[in-house]
Amino acid sequence: MMYITKKMIEIRNLLSRVGQSSNVTLPSIVVIGSQSSGKSSVLEAIVGHEFLPKGSNMITRRPIELTLVNDPNARVDYGEFPDLGLNRVTDFSMIQKTLTELNQSVPEEECVSDDPIRLTIHSPRVPDLSLIDLPGYIQVAGRNQPRELKRKISELCDKYIRGPNIILAISAADTDLANSTALQASRRVDPRGERTIGVITKMDLVDPEKGTDILNDKQYPLRLGYVGVISKLPTQTGGLFRRESTNLLAGITRNEKAYFMNHPSQFGPESGVSTGTITLRKKLMQVLEQQMSSKLSETTDAIVRELEETTYQFKVQYNEQPMSAESYLAASLDDFKHQFHSFANSFGRSQLADLLKDALDQKVLDQLAARYWNKPIEDLSPAPYQADTLEDLPKAEPNSPYWHRQLDAACSGLTRLGVGRLAANVASSAVQAGIDKLLDKSSFAKHPSARAVVSEAAATVLADRSYATSDGIEISLKPYKFDPDIQPNEWDKGREHVVGVLQSELEQCQNALKSLENSVGGRKKLKEVMTFVDKARKGDIVIEGDHPSGAGGFSAALLERGREAVFLRDRADIINMRILAAKSRKCKSLENKYYCPEVFLDAVATKLTQTAVLFLHVEMLHDFYQRFPREVESKLNEHMSGGGLEKFAREDAKVRRHLDLIQRKELLELVLNKIQDLNRLSGGGGNSGGRG
Ligand code: GDP
Repeated sequence: MMYITKKMIEIRNLLSRVGQSSNVTLPSIVVIGSQSSGKSSVLEAIVGHEFLPKGSNMITRRPIELTLVNDPNARVDYGEFPDLGLNRVTDFSMIQKTLTELNQSVPEEECVSDDPIRLTIHSPRVPDLSLIDLPGYIQVAGRNQPRELKRKISELCDKYIRGPNIILAISAADTDLANSTALQASRRVDPRGERTIGVITKMDLVDPEKGTDILNDKQYPLRLGYVGVISKLPTQTGGLFRRESTNLLAGITRNEKAYFMNHPSQFGPESGVSTGTITLRKKLMQVLEQQMSSKLSETTDAIVRELEETTYQFKVQYNEQPMSAESYLAASLDDFKHQFHSFANSFGRSQLADLLKDALDQKVLDQLAARYWNKPIEDLSPAPYQADTLEDLPKAEPNSPYWHRQLDAACSGLTRLGVGRLAANVASSAVQAGIDKLLDKSSFAKHPSARAVVSEAAATVLADRSYATSDGIEISLKPYKFDPDIQPNEWDKGREHVVGVLQSELEQCQNALKSLENSVGGRKKLKEVMTFVDKARKGDIVIEGDHPSGAGGFSAALLERGREAVFLRDRADIINMRILAAKSRKCKSLENKYYCPEVFLDAVATKLTQTAVLFLHVEMLHDFYQRFPREVESKLNEHMSGGGLEKFAREDAKVRRHLDLIQRKELLELVLNKIQDLNRLSGGGGNSGGRG
């Protein structure tokens, strides 16, 4: 019998997941009444539990959308707040506490809010009902209540008592019915009394004669009639009944029966009046079922229209292209793997060799600077030119032990600097940078956390091989540490290459000098400081001690720049000289290696590079290219588990809109199916079901 209401409530719950205001509205029973009319007591009696906020100064500030679900399988009664994610609350005092808190969360100045609290109660003892509890009308605003509270409550109630909702108008028997705010409000929107049920509470507080008179009232006749109730347990048994709150309805019913049967002439079967909470509950079920069923065809039409609109959107916006979080991830991953493949094809041994050689070129320059070029000018005091090596270099005697020592030291400085680690680092950073760049251009760029997962997967695989690779390289380079064994053709290549390295170093020196000039305010100014620094260095000027405020009319900061400039100028002079030397005839031959340390060290660096790269390529790069895609997949799977996939896809606004529309469409199709079934079962009430 109550089949339609149950199904329609299910449908309403589905529709609430459609998002964006669905145009489909289903009838509910709206409970109105003035404060203290007994509204809460009636609702609690129907539910069979005390669960509504109480207290003398407690006024309901938000509508409560209360859905009762008859659940024959529920072993205990429980409530759910779907918007709070609170499920299976079996302690009804907890529900009461939550409702109180939700009510109190409305700021004082707002008075009331039309944002409803949704609460569902499951029990084998409740009927399927959809009720809306509204703030009680107030007659006279209390001392601490804002003045517009009365108006705001009234406005809020007006919003809900429109059709197709059914109005449950609560009035107390001990107040004049003509003054009932609930009936007055109902009359305004339902003047013919077609969708209002009148409830007269506190029947025990008036004498039975007056009670029947009220229930037979003809001043405001209601098609659905009046029901008289006593929703309060008598005080002497109250304690007993309230302790076990599932007995609330049983207790109330027993009490009502006792009272009404005690006055058979007023309330007996012959009297023609309806009394009792059980009667009221039955009436509510019947009326709602009827209302739902009369709205069936209209609702079906509305759903068909919404589905049509959604289907149309899907066609024009997405050309009916399917989309799911899974397919989006798969496409993103495919695309990324494709890009990765191109990267792997373009980044191999020769690219690695170039990078490593560049790094070693710098190390060669370091060795040259340390062993041959540097003149320490840490301070302004005169310093001896260190061995005057550069001036001597052109005469470097092939047999002089001094030059042997210098070159040996530079060479072993190079071979023993930890080329293995350097090479592994160079390769790791290059690959990592390559992957990060791919990610920036991929769709993962829009998904920071998934992007991090992929990037970290690269780092993990690279780090995994780093130690072993670096050790392996060191072992393979061991022979060179004792004898680099440079061949004439290697010498020639070194000579060719090192000139370029020196030239770019020269350029850097010159650029640095230029920016120093700019930073002190021009070439002239810098020249002045440099002359001063030069003089001080040669001992022409004596500066005593450290002068934080500077010397010779120059500030300390300016002097510091001057020293830097002198250093750069000297470095540029030396490099210039060495470029000429490397290009000279004398450097053509390997025999003159003591005279041409630049060429020699470059040739050694190339040799180290070639050997290291063989190892790097196999042990690191090749290994990475094989393992990385698998690692990405497994790490992403982990990341996407437990709702992560949906979250991932929805991070992209475009995908989210696409998914939303598809989900909306699927949900509406489901709802339409359900409601068409319902139409068929209820005897084809809906005529339009076939259109979809
Ligand atoms: P609300 O403000 O409209 O929600 O009213 P309540 O349900 O809180 O009831 C107001 C007061 O009336 C409470 O003290 C109830 O115990 C009492 N009350 C409610 N229904 C009845 C009833 O049928 N008979 C009697 N005697 N008292 C009732």
